[in-house]
Amino acid sequence: MKTSKHPLGTLVETDVLVIGAGASGCGAALGARDQGLDVVIMDKGKLESCGAIGGGNDHYMAVLDEPGAPFDTVDDLIKFYAKPLNGYTPTMLREGWYNHMRYFLDKLGKAGVGFSKKADGTYLRTQGFGQPGHWWIHISNGMTIKRAMARVVRAAGVESLDYTMAVKILVDDGKACGALGWNVRTGEFVIVKAKCVVSAQGRSATRSTDNSTHNPFNVWQYPYNTSGGLVLGYDAGAAVTELDTYQRATMLPKGYGCPGMNGINSSGAHEINALGERFMGKYDPMMENGVRNNQIQGTFQEQMEGSGPPFYMDMRHVDEDVVHELQYVLMPGDKATFNDWAECTGTDFQHKLLEVEIGELIFGGAIAVNDQFETSVPNLFCGSVFLYCSGAMCGGYEAGRQAGMRAQGITGFGKVNEELAARVKEEIFAPMRVDPAEGVKYQEIEQAVRNVMCYYMGFRRSMAGMARALEKIQFLNSQSSRLHAETLRELMRCHEAHEILTVSELAIQATMERKETGRCVYKLRDYPELNPEMAKPLLVIRTENGPRFQWGKAPLL
Ligand SMILES: Cc1cc2nc3c(=O)[nH]c(=O)nc-3n(C[C@H](O)[C@H](O)[C@H](O)COP(=O)(O)OP(=O)(O)OC[C@H]3O[C@@H](n4cnc5c(N)ncnc54)[C@H](O)[C@@H]3O)c2cc1C
Repeated sequence: MKTSKHPLGTLVETDVLVIGAGASGCGAALGARDQGLDVVIMDKGKLESCGAIGGGNDHYMAVLDEPGAPFDTVDDLIKFYAKPLNGYTPTMLREGWYNHMRYFLDKLGKAGVGFSKKADGTYLRTQGFGQPGHWWIHISNGMTIKRAMARVVRAAGVESLDYTMAVKILVDDGKACGALGWNVRTGEFVIVKAKCVVSAQGRSATRSTDNSTHNPFNVWQYPYNTSGGLVLGYDAGAAVTELDTYQRATMLPKGYGCPGMNGINSSGAHEINALGERFMGKYDPMMENGVRNNQIQGTFQEQMEGSGPPFYMDMRHVDEDVVHELQYVLMPGDKATFNDWAECTGTDFQHKLLEVEIGELIFGGAIAVNDQFETSVPNLFCGSVFLYCSGAMCGGYEAGRQAGMRAQGITGFGKVNEELAARVKEEIFAPMRVDPAEGVKYQEIEQAVRNVMCYYMGFRRSMAGMARALEKIQFLNSQSSRLHAETLRELMRCHEAHEILTVSELAIQATMERKETGRCVYKLRDYPELNPEMAKPLLVIRTENGPRFQWGKAPLL
């Protein structure tokens, strides 16, 4: 990394810039670095703790070709994941996910991550989320995984720009050539010139709806991910996808927004409604251990029919060792405060029912990529493509590897439009100049978005309701120039609020294009049936007149 002073702030030059330092960003940085390139990784948080793995992950997904293990091959992975809607191709899944699964097992294992093993030396794995094989390796010290990953990344010689929020991907002559950002602690404006850029900013926009705690930071997923990747990619001209279908929720322990349903469901827990009935058999052949959306839809349906809440997970019949590992090793591996919460609430998986509820809905999507993980903007790659920590790390690695190979053939940097850079700098700090008497706080805008999205974009929708939601979100968007910040922290939140607004608007518009029910977590009153014509992904592309929608098929580009 070469750093110098620039009239607007700091200028950084590198071969490959990775935006986002979560699992996929770390993977991307290693993928590019393994090609011998100069790599800079930028995150609005700190490398050691940022991203969804920052708080811990308790399972790592891997197919391992173990002799005698059923459904444990790359073909099984492809069969399960190459679906028309997500645009994943066999090549992407093989080369971008499967090929790197063992790389991270080895690297992270050596860095101290405890991938649990059985007495015979093979990994301790369980089955989950409707997958055919036992693909989920248990992690015995899940809360340390990000620190271990950061050590690996730093040891590889990757340079990090911590606490630096990207606000624009730079494009010259139609090709990505860097990014503009600012340090959220010092306010320093940063220009990064790069031969290739990898967006690894995650797939989700949390904080766009509420759960019962009404605390947007007490949620299932990483609350600081507000869909920066989608918004910056879309702004740069890259086609984005899955805005209409990547709308996810999970069951949560009531009043505590934590992940963990994978472990709970795969332990053999039974979900029970208020009538004491185990009902998931009606909604998924694998019952609680089936597809996550089916558990949400099933629970919601029971609720509509008056059979709950409350809903409970019953683990009293499960083997004592399994339940003990779940409550005291895996759950705190995902969120370190779990056992404090459990103690305060008297939670005891072995002896009591665990009350659960449907959590917040997450809106998101992905930047569309081809088999080389390159987006529709040349030299802009995307690492946040696959699901879960293993999908993020491995997909990120492949995006970084491909970006590295491309950068090797590029001699100079693209031109930075100085006028644009100056304007972006003005815009970044504009909320600090808004008169407080005229301004609105990011909390007000965000809460209004959550209200709209909860009212009209929940598990039951109508076209009229979505049109209403769009009108209201567009109104809120029109007010975003009134966002007012007193501090740099509030300023970051203002930019996150802007991202939440943008992704909510795009998600509503994209969802209105999908005139059917059955392929996502919601039901649409006007189109109650599955439409076989719509078994394809929807691409959304920015134009001067707003988004253009284009139905595609895998490979997306
Ligand atoms: C608590 C928890 C437990 C989980 N448990 C498991 C598990 O056990 N097993 C499993 O497989 N999966 C688990 N998951 C999911 C898994 O962690 C995620 O799928 C994966 O880590 C996503 O990685 P990512 O890098 O794609 O996205 P993220 O982790 O969201 O990383 C994106 C990064 O980009 C940064 N960023 C975003 N916008 C900008 C910007 N404009 N400028 C600079 N930086 C930006 C963010 O700060 C963030 O660090 C869990 C998730 C959570 C939250």
